[in-house]
Amino acid sequence: MRLSIFFLFLFLCSCDPSSNERTITNMNAKTEKLPYAMVIHGGAGTITKANMTPEKEAAITKVMTEALEKGETLLKAGTDGVEVVEQVIHILENSPLFNAGKGAVFNFDGKNEMDASIMNGKDLMAGAVGGVSTIKNPISAAKAVMQKSDHVMLSGKGADVFAKEQGLEIVDPSYFFTENRKKSLERVKAKAKKKLTEQEKHGTVGCVVLDKNGNLAAGTSTGGMTNKRWNRIGDSPIIGAGTYANNNTCAVSCTGHGEYFIRYAVAYDVSAMMEYKGSSLENATNEIIHNKLKKAGGTGGLIAVDADGNIAMPFNTEGMYRGYVKPGKKEVLIYKN
Ligand code: ASP
Repeated sequence: MRLSIFFLFLFLCSCDPSSNERTITNMNAKTEKLPYAMVIHGGAGTITKANMTPEKEAAITKVMTEALEKGETLLKAGTDGVEVVEQVIHILENSPLFNAGKGAVFNFDGKNEMDASIMNGKDLMAGAVGGVSTIKNPISAAKAVMQKSDHVMLSGKGADVFAKEQGLEIVDPSYFFTENRKKSLERVKAKAKKKLTEQEKHGTVGCVVLDKNGNLAAGTSTGGMTNKRWNRIGDSPIIGAGTYANNNTCAVSCTGHGEYFIRYAVAYDVSAMMEYKGSSLENATNEIIHNKLKKAGGTGGLIAVDADGNIAMPFNTEGMYRGYVKPGKKEVLIYKN
């Protein structure tokens, strides 16, 4: 008798597959799987209609649309997700409008120190650079670390030298000087003891992709936070904090007050909620941004895509430059709603 109860118990257990498999399968069953999808961001902060000029709005929308179009062309052609992330981020890094590459903000010493990372959801390979100052496109340096070194993260001078050895484009640090960012630093310094607005504190660019082969990839690139201490490294180059990708769950790129994103392991937390708790992408991303981070006082947002091409772009600031493209639909958004 006891034995048959034991076997009945075993039978019931075998009817209930592991929660991980079950939830991912159910999630796939619920939604139609898209052949490709991509989401980009250009930073979160106090971005409202009231403090925006029509010219700036148009200029930002133009660059983001260009990035979406480039991404879609590559995705349609079957380009690998990591490659798409790199090329799309180049467009944002080469624009002075975003806090990454050319438009990177200044640190306390009036220098530009940039961070970037990239991750491949197929094999969990990742690469990152922190505090670099001569690499025109830090996202490419992150990719080179991933593909051509034994390491995941290089920082400072070592990363700059590595990028040069890899034949990446090197520029004089003065390339990153923009009048606008210099003025921001002066403003921020002048009221250093007062509360800074979110926009003055940060910004960043990121891209997440589901490619035609079903692979997920994520990348993030930033100048960090205006007036940051020299050699300060934020969440953007930290795998699991600012960037994460896993084909079984999602690809995530974050923007916001980096110290919080590091402490709450934000990008990995989204993946973990999906993997261990069976959360949908939407629930997992809302939970971290609107609940956990918000309660802690961590401002910012993230972009994410899952294996079915579902996307999420939550933020707890007034606005976030964001855009997405999937078959038949392309959109750039800035404000809430
Ligand atoms: N997260 C970036 C950092 O803390 C800044 C940002 O996203 O705005 O360096």
